[in-house]
Amino acid sequence: MNDEYELLPCRVCHEDLAYLEEEGGWCVYVTCANCGSQTAFCRYEGEEEKEEAEKKAIHLWNMGKVIAERRGE
Ligand SMILES: [Zn+2]
Repeated sequence: MNDEYELLPCRVCHEDLAYLEEEGGWCVYVTCANCGSQTAFCRYEGEEEKEEAEKKAIHLWNMGKVIAERRGE
């Protein structure tokens, strides 16, 4: 099952530290543990939709559709 969850390295910092995060039981997104970049939230209702939402978040990440966390500058 985890074979589907292949996350590419972060587009922003190029570290291979991306992971799938769950937010409060209603949405999932992919975020980078190094720089904090993340995809948009993918909402779901119920277990079936959750799987779809996870795939969508992973797809967004792998497509490079991430929101960069801007620190400092
Ligand atoms: Zn990063």
